[in-house]
Amino acid sequence: MIIAVDGPAASGKGTLARRIARELGYGHLDTGKLYRAVGMAVLRGGGDPSDAVAAAAAARSLDPTMLDDPDLAGDEAAQAASKVSAIPTVRAVLLDFQRDFAARPPGAVLDGRDIGTVVCPNADIKLYVIASDEIRAQRRHKELLDRGKASIYARVLQDLKERDARDSTRSVAPMKPAEGAVVLDTTVLDAEAAYAAAMECIHGVVAGAGDPAEQ
Ligand code: C5P
Repeated sequence: MIIAVDGPAASGKGTLARRIARELGYGHLDTGKLYRAVGMAVLRGGGDPSDAVAAAAAARSLDPTMLDDPDLAGDEAAQAASKVSAIPTVRAVLLDFQRDFAARPPGAVLDGRDIGTVVCPNADIKLYVIASDEIRAQRRHKELLDRGKASIYARVLQDLKERDARDSTRSVAPMKPAEGAVVLDTTVLDAEAAYAAAMECIHGVVAGAGDPAEQ
């Protein structure tokens, strides 16, 4: 069972994916962390995240222990991630890791931008989580303040918009809803309601798979 949860930054997809995985006893992979780790590795090596050669080398030497780095949660990592993620070789290098994770029994929940479209086009469930720019920026701003980081709302909003624009217009694996994805708008649904809607959709698919009349 593979559950793909895609959507823009701070839409609530990570919280939702983590909760679904916990409920079902599945593994959860936050694929944004892979790109963040690559971006940070390039920055720490003194390079430019838009440099295809440096970014591809960092992707090839990515070690899963790097995913535990707390600095990955920051905006420096987010912007660098958005730059390295537009480089086709970087995406290609990270694809196997994500597909291997998705194939692990008993099931996996992956969240990102291209899980339902590219990484796992055959996912059993595809969710696409959205929210207004302002709501997403408010959430991100609060999260940064709660973590004791300096944050300016207007700057957060601008960074989110820049990142969305880069992520949705890149030529390789642009962010977009997969065909057949169920769209959950967390501007109007709180976390509880989004989770309930997602679980209803998952139970519907599981019930359908168990019913020979539907196969
Ligand atoms: O989800 P998160 O905000 O951590 O993602 C950071 C960046 O990584 C995104 O803005 C996007 O550029 C990139 N990303 C991607 N494909 C994914 C996950 C993240 O391109 N599957």
